Amino acid sequence: MIKSNITFNWPLVGNGHIIDFLAKGIANDKIAGSYIFSGPDNLGKTTTANYFARSLVCQRAQEGTAVLPCGKCPACQQAEKGLHGDIHLVKKDKDKKNISIEQIRDFIRILGMASFLNSYKIGIIKHAESLSIEAANALLKTLEEPKIKVVIILVTSNIDALPATIVSRSQVLRFKLVKADLIYDYLIRDYKAKRSMAKDLSYLCLGRPSLAVKFLEDLEFYNVYLNRANGFFQFSQEDINKRLAVVEELIGAKAGGQESVKIAGRIIEIWQGITRDLLLLEFDQRGLTQHLLLEGELKKIKTKFKPSDLLNLAKNLRQAKEYLAANVNPKLVLENIAINI
Ligand SMILES: [Zn+2]
Repeated sequence: MIKSNITFNWPLVGNGHIIDFLAKGIANDKIAGSYIFSGPDNLGKTTTANYFARSLVCQRAQEGTAVLPCGKCPACQQAEKGLHGDIHLVKKDKDKKNISIEQIRDFIRILGMASFLNSYKIGIIKHAESLSIEAANALLKTLEEPKIKVVIILVTSNIDALPATIVSRSQVLRFKLVKADLIYDYLIRDYKAKRSMAKDLSYLCLGRPSLAVKFLEDLEFYNVYLNRANGFFQFSQEDINKRLAVVEELIGAKAGGQESVKIAGRIIEIWQGITRDLLLLEFDQRGLTQHLLLEGELKKIKTKFKPSDLLNLAKNLRQAKEYLAANVNPKLVLENIAINI
């Protein structure tokens, strides 16, 4: 049955082709057994997975006329609180390197049980690229024998890290970066942001709307970002001992473990962004700079670098990311940048 009067109201910006595709699937009762939502972080992949799941379990979905998810039926209300018995999320524990085989076994067992309300059962796997090999193999077996009304959504920023056998059995949907002007309008319309703030954030987020929203709503997160960016600005003027002290301050207390690898990775990305901005200013491309909100600081330090210094720095930062991936101590990696800047 085609439910032609069903419409969707998902709080997303950009990637309309994906929302249209999923919405049509619901309206036409054509739902795949597994999907892969692929693309860079902070594009709304997990939010889309949640709204897709909520629309599938919404009790009004069967009636043929509704805005999905309705938000009012008992199923929607439970789903909104994360308490719906037919929607399951699995993700990597913060301090673990992988999603374990035990986690996936539990996940498969729960998805195999009868639905509470005879509705869809949906399993969402966040950061699916971090499935252990054993966990991926266990999942593959489930994908090979799809069950009616069971939907598995793998969310990943690195589809190449997933086994080809999993990818080939799934409907792959590729999320793309969103244009700054769309994000600007979205922040003003849906989040009532001030125009100047919306402009700064729409550039700062580099096409990733969920990141812009996080900056807007989480002041601490925003301040941590600015602090890391400022570390770079200090680098360009302080002596070497002071530069090492900046590294100590940014990462010292959190040295060791996967968490500090992640933090160092984020810091390097911010510094890469600033280096790119300095190069853009060098070539009079102000309109493309990411850190519009730090324009004063950028202009101040620009004079300290020759274009060849900036290209060297860009190379060092790229190399630093490779060191991190190769398990070099994150503090050493940052100190290496501080010494060679
Ligand atoms: Zn509902």
